[in-house]
Amino acid sequence: MSYQLPKLLYEYSDLEPFFDTKTMEIHHTKHHQNYINNTNLILEKNNIKNIKINELLLKLDNLSIPIKQKKLLRNNAGGHANHSFFWKILKKNTKPNNIILNILKDNFNNLENFKKNFEKKALSFFGSGWIWLIKKNNLLKIITTKNQDNPIMNKKNNKLLNYPIIGLDLWEHAYYLKYQNQKSLYIKSFWHVLNWDRVLYLFLK
Ligand code: MN
Repeated sequence: MSYQLPKLLYEYSDLEPFFDTKTMEIHHTKHHQNYINNTNLILEKNNIKNIKINELLLKLDNLSIPIKQKKLLRNNAGGHANHSFFWKILKKNTKPNNIILNILKDNFNNLENFKKNFEKKALSFFGSGWIWLIKKNNLLKIITTKNQDNPIMNKKNNKLLNYPIIGLDLWEHAYYLKYQNQKSLYIKSFWHVLNWDRVLYLFLK
């Protein structure tokens, strides 16, 4: 079975006016689909069996395929994993509960300060990539990754060092239709559509 575009748990219009319908539709049906198509092609070409996408990301370094193919696979399989993660972290009208508020307090003093740090780092990130809140042991950290890299690619001796609990797409295709050059407005709009229930679920996982 090759990778398939995951269905969203909501309509493209459900995140309006923060994430607009047209961007959501193109982002999901064109950009994400393209990463999936390319991933499937590369796997087929190199006779690699389909495994869960996150397992594939963890195994990337150990695959014995030409370096050019590996780079292509990293970008496209990463794109599939990142976008699959992203759709699930989006939902309007959720709030961080006390567990999350306390964790953010421990790591960033308070929710507002966490948001400020996240926004600042996202805004100053140059080029295409992602910003994440990752869980490493029981600590939280804000990091960015280039291109379609995913935090779980940062591993040591094949051991998972961290995993994301929040992620925001910083590629221009994620916001340009609505926000054009106003990246900061896009980043701020994220707080209105961040699914805190999912964040809690991922944190407790
Ligand atoms: Mn994207």
